[in-house]
Amino acid sequence: MAVSFAAVNLRTMALRSSSKLLRRSSHLLPPIHMQHSAPPLTRKISMDARSIASQLNRSGLLKTQGLIGGKWSDSYDGKTIQVYNPATGESIADVACMGGKETNDAIASAYDAYRSWSKTTAAERSKLLRKWYDLLMAHKEELAQLMTLEQGKPLKEAMGEVNYGAGFIEFSAEEAKRIYGDIIPAPMSDRRLFVLKQPVGVVGAITPWNFPLAMITRKVGPALACGCTVVIKPSELTPLTALAAAELAIQAGIPAGAVNVVMGNAPEIGDALLASPQVRKITFTGSTAVGKKLMAGSAETVKKVSLELGGNAPCIIFDDADIDIAVKGTLAAKYRNSGQTCVCANRILVQEGIYDKFAKALIDAVRNMKVGDGFGEDVVQGPLINEAAVKKVETLLQDATSKGAKVMLGGKRHSLGFTFYEPTVVGDVNSDMRISREEVFGPVAPLLRFKTEEDAIRIANDTNAGLGSYVFTNSIQRSWRVAEALEYGLVGINEGVISTEVAPFGGFKQSGLGREGSKYGMDEYLEIKYVCLGNMKKE
Ligand code: ADP
Repeated sequence: MAVSFAAVNLRTMALRSSSKLLRRSSHLLPPIHMQHSAPPLTRKISMDARSIASQLNRSGLLKTQGLIGGKWSDSYDGKTIQVYNPATGESIADVACMGGKETNDAIASAYDAYRSWSKTTAAERSKLLRKWYDLLMAHKEELAQLMTLEQGKPLKEAMGEVNYGAGFIEFSAEEAKRIYGDIIPAPMSDRRLFVLKQPVGVVGAITPWNFPLAMITRKVGPALACGCTVVIKPSELTPLTALAAAELAIQAGIPAGAVNVVMGNAPEIGDALLASPQVRKITFTGSTAVGKKLMAGSAETVKKVSLELGGNAPCIIFDDADIDIAVKGTLAAKYRNSGQTCVCANRILVQEGIYDKFAKALIDAVRNMKVGDGFGEDVVQGPLINEAAVKKVETLLQDATSKGAKVMLGGKRHSLGFTFYEPTVVGDVNSDMRISREEVFGPVAPLLRFKTEEDAIRIANDTNAGLGSYVFTNSIQRSWRVAEALEYGLVGINEGVISTEVAPFGGFKQSGLGREGSKYGMDEYLEIKYVCLGNMKKE
């Protein structure tokens, strides 16, 4: 396999950039006219790529093999897959393309490591997790650069993700020491009743591309803290950040086999994890369709399952909202990560009295957003992850406009080409349009008009999803009423970004099962054992 790959690849890429001989993935290529109109962005990006490559090489963070039992490993048949920079279409690395065999070995390593890891003291696990946290923070810049390179998010946002992602490891290090049991007053005088909390066992953690670090740490942190070991399967679109994080886990002294990483053939890896009776838990973040498959597949061996699936977040702006706060919150809730998060506002419900004023203020703010390569200065919106993502945005927007919605700003691919899309605001949207029923997962803000508080709640809850929701109002009473009525796992009131490692994150309805982060997230990796001690009086 191309072990020598990426560093060289990045360097040659930089050299080739001036002659425009970049390796591009055909599926990332924009239409011909856009290739011609793309500004001379490639030279700057490749310069960045070169310096990033050398920095990453120095810190040993550029990994392309899987991690099995503490050893970096190629795929057994030597196959690789390419990882692309969505801002340029350039290939940035060839990584091991693994399948069922490698996954079975990773499970065996995790099972082996579980025997000793589950017996360590909470203090030992806490210390190692804390070391891992320190290393993640010490390498914040490299991790963020890697993320911008493979995922496209602006560097500042990527730095924020390192803080957020590392936060789960820090929190888990602290919480490891607080996995308390219980003593229950016995119903008979010669008995004592105890409740112990014990690790669930080997965990299969499957993660998406939109938060290449945080979706892993929010699973692996609590799993390790509880005494579980893990097999991670990151997204094939963004494996480099996951591999760098795993390298730092090794450097922190987390024992061989406690953290394994395999990537490549997703269904094969998934099937191996599901089939194994040794894997006792599946934790997944991703699409609802794949989540349902994993849930069904877990039935055969009755695994514990946590799912964080798609959302369809309403963002409700009441007439009595502070317009500046509402616009600021909506911008953050909608356009963060170019609209590619499962808690991104998907439907912006605006009360009729404030609709025109809010729409104008939102458009003015969105117009000022700078789109570009995530390494560019002041860029707040990067490219979408791939061509399929742009096509989905186009399809949903086309459906909406064909049914009467009006594009108020943007509404087309950005002149930068590739997968860049103009930040868009579309008005006169209604609940029958696909854009109101499916996640657009792009920088499009659909505005829906409503009359009363009851209308807003009814429209907001009229979906199978129930993850993030947002409310903007200056009324304390209304904020409580609406927060209680929303069938959602998360409610932001006068705030557009509410995720934090200290609070429980998860969905109602088909948005998932279980919670991540906070003390509640720890329980997902624990079994409850009841111990009854009898015959106390005999001696
Ligand atoms: P998204 O559309 O956000 O990429 P997916 O659900 O397709 O969401 O992907 C989330 C994660 O699930 C990725 O790591 C992907 O490779 C993985 N995945 C996709 N299909 C399967 C499958 N059949 N079994 C296990 N994992 C899968």
